[in-house]
Amino acid sequence: MSELNLILLGPPGAGKGTQAARLSDDFGLPYIGTGDLLREHRREQTELGRQAEEFMAAGHLVPDELVIAMILDKIGDEGDDGFLLDGFPRTVGQADALFEEMEKRGRRLTAALLIEAADDIVVERLSGRRQCSNGHLYHVAFDPPKHDGACDQCGKPLAQRDDDRPDAIRERLSVYHELTEPLKGYYEDAGLLRRFDGTRDKVEVHDHIRATLATLRLEERL
Ligand SMILES: [Zn+2]
Repeated sequence: MSELNLILLGPPGAGKGTQAARLSDDFGLPYIGTGDLLREHRREQTELGRQAEEFMAAGHLVPDELVIAMILDKIGDEGDDGFLLDGFPRTVGQADALFEEMEKRGRRLTAALLIEAADDIVVERLSGRRQCSNGHLYHVAFDPPKHDGACDQCGKPLAQRDDDRPDAIRERLSVYHELTEPLKGYYEDAGLLRRFDGTRDKVEVHDHIRATLATLRLEERL
């Protein structure tokens, strides 16, 4: 059985989450979101979770080695056929460290899937989002509620989340470009980068990724 060991890359608002959920279903791969993983370890008070908490309590970032240990734990438990990793690596240094640790375990990446969208499109998509207190989502242009400012499903008022404000989105994008953009070159040089146009329809993007992965899997078997 060939493995599909995948990393997801792309700016916020390009549709990574949606695509990850579908691919996880299609190929039966565990989705490893590093934010969730960290919360899980803290909630269950694992050794790694306790170590992470000590750093956080001291006002430090959780060190890469700890995050990588959590990822490899999860891969060891559920990732025999592969995995979908989202949210890590975010820097070239983290990518190097992940590569080394995987290699020690006889694993390597199959591909880095980059879902791209231009900044203006991301800002348009995210800044148009409106949400009620029950979490029902709308978009002022693409999926507007029937009555301005009120949820169709529960009638509660709709509001914009703070991190969906245009200035907050631009800030997230600038962090993305500065730290994560260099990963494109890194994975391109390694022959692992596969690009997808996140401005296209979700279904179309999904079909394209699925076809690419099916081809990769075939090539691995040859
Ligand atoms: Zn609602």
